[in-house]
Amino acid sequence: MLAGGDARQLEVIRRLTEMDATVTIIGFDRLDTPFSGASKADWSPEVLKEAHILFLPAVGTDDDGIVPTLFTDSGIKLTDDFLEALPKTSKVITGMAKSYLRKICEKHRLELIELFERDDVAIYNSIPTAEGALMMAIQNTDITIHGSNCIVLGLGRTGLTMARTLKALGAHVKAGVRRDEAFARAFEMGFEPFYMQDLARHAGNIDLIFNTIPTMIVTAQVIAQLPQRACIIDLASKPGGTDFRFAEKRGIKALLAPGLPGIVAPKTAGRIIANSLTQIILEDIRLRGNQP
Ligand code: NAP
Repeated sequence: MLAGGDARQLEVIRRLTEMDATVTIIGFDRLDTPFSGASKADWSPEVLKEAHILFLPAVGTDDDGIVPTLFTDSGIKLTDDFLEALPKTSKVITGMAKSYLRKICEKHRLELIELFERDDVAIYNSIPTAEGALMMAIQNTDITIHGSNCIVLGLGRTGLTMARTLKALGAHVKAGVRRDEAFARAFEMGFEPFYMQDLARHAGNIDLIFNTIPTMIVTAQVIAQLPQRACIIDLASKPGGTDFRFAEKRGIKALLAPGLPGIVAPKTAGRIIANSLTQIILEDIRLRGNQP
């Protein structure tokens, strides 16, 4: 059962129908492309009664339970009566869940899987994220990436890909980290590492900052040290890690850039989701098959 979503879900539907799964799609009535093997349905608790999996979009619901939809004008809201209808062995799968979805699944004792938390998915997603961040950097500067002075904050799954991609294009890359191991790894990879507490000291001659740390890190003190030409691209999940108000006051470009994979490469992003989802389904089938 697949409810709501954007172009990424089309790849998922395609893959599931190829697997010969029984696929019911909800929230796709404005979609012209027919999917052989998938049937359309209206959003009602009845349709969930037989579902093994309720698959929701990248951000499952908002804080009020509204499931984002691109291909329908009718709203989809996930409320108690819908989760009550799902068999207790069903899984609810999404990219990332807000607290509304977490709480309602917990209340109905339903397993919730967040695909974007998986290391493999986060690493695959870092590819379109870095490409999208580069696109924004190119659009918002008048210099080449080659030869530019960049800072990448956080060398996790996204930061590492970002730093490596910038370096491959010929940028001078400084990497802000907090752990000794990350410092050593950054050094080994040819970046110029520094500890996060020294960020303001490293901000002086910077063209671009790419932040991946989801906490307030590009503070007013840091922004005060940046040259006027600098551009901050904040990749961390909302609300990002930048003092946007102070950046605006100083006239420094600071852009929060959420959801880049779905924006710059919906097909690839959909394939990443579909690959992970099919792995989970096949594993589930294997386990069910092994049950006495
Ligand atoms: P990750 O692998 O957990 O990496 C996060 C990094 O931040 C780690 O290196 C971590 O350092 C560092 N960090 C966290 N808190 C810190 C703090 N207080 N001080 C210093 N460093 C800190 O996460 P990820 O998968 O790369 O994702 C990073 C962010 O990007 C998340 O918010 C995610 O939602 C977002 N994201 C955005 C997009 C987009 O399109 N914009 C796409 C994918 C992900 P340690 O290694 O020392 O813990």
